[in-house]
Amino acid sequence: MRYSFFNLLKQSFNGHKSWEPAWKEAKLKPHYDVIIIGGGGHGLATAYYLAKELKIRNVAVLEKGYIGGGNTGRNTTIIRSNYLRDESAKLYNHAVDLWQDLTRELNFNVMYSSRGVYNLGHSLQDMRNIERRVGANILNGIDSEVVLPDELKRRIPIMNTSSKTRYPILGASYQKKGGVARHDAVAWGFARAASKLGVDIVQNCEVTGMQVQQGQIKGLQTSKGEVQADKVGIVVAGHSSVLAAMAGIRLPVISRPLQAFVSEPLKPILNTVVMSSQVHGYISQSNKGDLVIGGGVDGYTGYSQRGSPHTLEHTVQAMIELFPFISRVRMNRQWAGIVDILPDACPIVGKTPVKNLYINCGWGTGGFKATPGAGHVFAHTIANDEPHKLNSALTLDRFISGALVDEQGASGVAQH
Ligand SMILES: Cc1cc2nc3c(=O)[nH]c(=O)nc-3n(C[C@H](O)[C@H](O)[C@H](O)COP(=O)(O)OP(=O)(O)OC[C@H]3O[C@@H](n4cnc5c(N)ncnc54)[C@H](O)[C@@H]3O)c2cc1C
Repeated sequence: MRYSFFNLLKQSFNGHKSWEPAWKEAKLKPHYDVIIIGGGGHGLATAYYLAKELKIRNVAVLEKGYIGGGNTGRNTTIIRSNYLRDESAKLYNHAVDLWQDLTRELNFNVMYSSRGVYNLGHSLQDMRNIERRVGANILNGIDSEVVLPDELKRRIPIMNTSSKTRYPILGASYQKKGGVARHDAVAWGFARAASKLGVDIVQNCEVTGMQVQQGQIKGLQTSKGEVQADKVGIVVAGHSSVLAAMAGIRLPVISRPLQAFVSEPLKPILNTVVMSSQVHGYISQSNKGDLVIGGGVDGYTGYSQRGSPHTLEHTVQAMIELFPFISRVRMNRQWAGIVDILPDACPIVGKTPVKNLYINCGWGTGGFKATPGAGHVFAHTIANDEPHKLNSALTLDRFISGALVDEQGASGVAQH
């Protein structure tokens, strides 16, 4: 359908009844080549790349609620790839490369805005870590630089760079290609493009059990009945350990609430993203004008999508320290998601001990930025039954071998 001015006007009078749905609401078939459990950005991206690049089109995405209703639609959308370790930084950077062209790739405006990301340092040790990380980034071909306080003051005049604060700012790392995107649009864009290629997107379909025979996945029990599958990918973020347990797998994942909040809309005052893992907060301004603010995870395991008041208070204190004007701004909304955290703050993207069952989890507080890259390499892993070179170190068995990929320092906000 063409959306000319008159067409739009007509639609507005008839309640948009004849608008084409962006993706087909599919009925569950009895069998699929691949089933992806979880209709967040990562699951939908995986299905899209399976269909688009690997030509596997008998694919279903099963989502227990509505697509994007998990962490994808609840996150603060910061995108960057300036991580420390080669094993993770290269995958995040693959994602940043895909973000550059994602709107055109999906023919859907995901509103990627590379407005730059600053990670602040408040102590000599922070600055040593920042310099080390920037050095490692440059060796990996990732755009990254150290910025000192005078230059920070010039670039972000609204930030309190005074040396008299409790945690004075001694500098920052800066990634120019970093930025933000529109979270819902990422889910909708991948869903629409995958659906066009024949992927079934089945919402309100909760996976409640798994059939494993002789060490191999055969099918799933769902709230819409049983379904058979040759291969299954688990991509359920905060519910990873629940789903893995259905196949008898124990993951070293903990699930914790992570919250965020937005202010009333303001005139444009902040044209970049500022994060501090020391004072524990980060901020950007949305295209609508709201300040989008987040902090660290709650200090307990939980599955409520609310978050505790004292963590909220701590985050607000941190932001007022960095941006004193915030004490006079009204906050409009607060919410939380459930993030899945691994001991080394790095994800698992790969095979499981059950044949033909794969898992993508453990992105913790920072998996939105990886959405296209993680979907891309996970699709490759499922199709070829072996990892892509970019996720070959992100295995589940690193927690047995001890070959951890320690990203605690670069994870942006506290994961523990
Ligand atoms: C407040 C907050 C702020 C964040 N900020 C950032 C940020 O700025 N930058 C960043 O990079 N990352 C951020 N993150 C992390 C990021 O949101 C996640 O890592 C990422 O979105 C995970 O995507 P996903 O598709 O794996 O998971 P999700 O979007 O959570 O999708 C998983 C889906 O699985 C479904 N599901 C669960 N159980 C079942 C079942 N039994 N059957 C069927 N479906 C099931 C869920 O309903 C859900 O829709 C933030 C997270 C939160 C909560």
